[in-house]
Amino acid sequence: MNALGVSYSFKVDVDTHDGMRDGVPRLLETFDRFGVKATFFLSFGPDNSGKAVWNLFRARGFLRKMLRTGAPKLYGWRTILSGTLLPARLIAAKHPDIVRRISDEGHEVEVHAWDHRLWQDHLDRLTRDRIREQFARAFECFERILGRRPRAVAAPAWRATATSLQVQDGLGLEYASDVRGGEFGFPELDGYRSTTLQIPTTQPCLEELLTLGRKDLDACAEEVLAVPAGARRPEGRGAPLVVIPLHAEVEGGVYAPFLEILLRATAARSARIQTLHEKASEILSSAVSPPVIRVRAQPMAGRAGCVALAVPLDGEA
Ligand SMILES: [Zn+2]
Repeated sequence: MNALGVSYSFKVDVDTHDGMRDGVPRLLETFDRFGVKATFFLSFGPDNSGKAVWNLFRARGFLRKMLRTGAPKLYGWRTILSGTLLPARLIAAKHPDIVRRISDEGHEVEVHAWDHRLWQDHLDRLTRDRIREQFARAFECFERILGRRPRAVAAPAWRATATSLQVQDGLGLEYASDVRGGEFGFPELDGYRSTTLQIPTTQPCLEELLTLGRKDLDACAEEVLAVPAGARRPEGRGAPLVVIPLHAEVEGGVYAPFLEILLRATAARSARIQTLHEKASEILSSAVSPPVIRVRAQPMAGRAGCVALAVPLDGEA
């Protein structure tokens, strides 16, 4: 694969307390060794990861599912029981020193969530006010720690609705990253056209590939680094952008070697790596206005539940 002319971005989501405390410092050391700057989206509020397990527990085949997904190995039992049998710990709100360290080391820091689980499991049922409140709490905490407003948000589990996009449009953001697949642009979902630039996640995440039965990490890395079919260089809008999703709990944990493989490969290809903010600035300063992208809530291979998926426009690759 020829990586020339492609711009890679690493989008790190932090979903759990232990991912923040243990995974992020480990990721920072690895990025530092390769001289790479990433974009971190942080969950600030309670770690209710255990609620997902509780839902699984109530479903049939609990143990089989737990073992198949490798959840105990990936997350540890403290996280798996967090918010149910054990009290929920705050995530980034409890670790202001690590939040500042990410920023001080030159990475981009933005907002992922207040209550990640609430958004992921119940977004469809959240009122506009409740969604606003989720952002308000995360933004307040972010500003207290970093002394500035966030520039961007990224929806937990890539879940978005017309209402969530509408609320985000009121936040004065530079961009949002809620969508899977496709090109950047202004998303149209359930009849609502957002005015906030959307930079989608274009690549699969490692957990999805593992769920689909892939075993070899080198082959997974090839898949994650491949420029997606249909990625194009829109006139005046720079290089096709490949956005690679990482999770502090995964690549900052037992799958740390996977990030090493990715970074060695991008270094060997002399690939261009940008933060999402750098990419957004380029897009927004271009003379060509970003296109409208059509988005729909759809299931996706390797994931439970629907994600906000870009739908190819008629007549386009
Ligand atoms: Zn997340």
